[in-house]
Amino acid sequence: MLKISQVFGPTVQGEGSAAGRHCLFVRTFGCNLECAWCDTAYTWAVTEAKAARTHSGRLYDRDDPAYGMKPMEPDEVLAQLRELWDVERRPTVVVVSGGEPMMQQRDLVPLLDRLHGWGNEVHVETAGTIAPVDAFDAVVTQYNVSPKLANSGNRPTKRYRPEALAALRDTGKAWFKFVVTADLETDLAEVDCIVADVAIPSRRVMVMPEGSDARTNTATARRMVDTALARGYGLSLRTHVLLWGDDPDR
Ligand code: SF4
Repeated sequence: MLKISQVFGPTVQGEGSAAGRHCLFVRTFGCNLECAWCDTAYTWAVTEAKAARTHSGRLYDRDDPAYGMKPMEPDEVLAQLRELWDVERRPTVVVVSGGEPMMQQRDLVPLLDRLHGWGNEVHVETAGTIAPVDAFDAVVTQYNVSPKLANSGNRPTKRYRPEALAALRDTGKAWFKFVVTADLETDLAEVDCIVADVAIPSRRVMVMPEGSDARTNTATARRMVDTALARGYGLSLRTHVLLWGDDPDR
């Protein structure tokens, strides 16, 4: 049984190297991190203690029918996807996001195997703290790995697992995306340390401004683009934020 928060689309992938692509989203419930600025905290901030870890402090309802935790069989998720798009005859990109989907990687294999078999690309969004198992890796097309920096508020030992990042790097299917706040110098120095420590090729690295409103997002992007390019990193905006603000259904 899978723990699912949302199934939605078609929409555009908002972030990373596949930004702008037509896709459907499967958002899993639950996360092993607690990022202060998380924009999907409804997938994990369901206790007072967890809510207190976020900037907003908002407590979400685990049983909320729209965004809460829904136990679903793989076939039920597949049926919802098929209502949204003909994934069997018109394969597209299916983004498996969270929360942290790799907490459920073994349970996700039957669903992703069907989608992959029909020719869909399976893109997995992960914070990179869990290494992929072989059966999962076999059905994944691309990993969008977003290691969390100190600005996330998580303990270093919890958020930084170099062995998991190296395993993802070695699949040859991973792109690495770092969320950078207005404190550019501090954040980019930390990105440089991780990139060097894990030996991530700089061409596979993108930096992305934090911010769930278009103005903050583009202002930070303008400030950091030149220094990112000088390091060999790409820049990701947040297309969905530019188009739809913080609407959780887009
Ligand atoms: S890893 Fe992602 S889903 Fe989990 S708390 Fe951080 S931003 Fe939110």
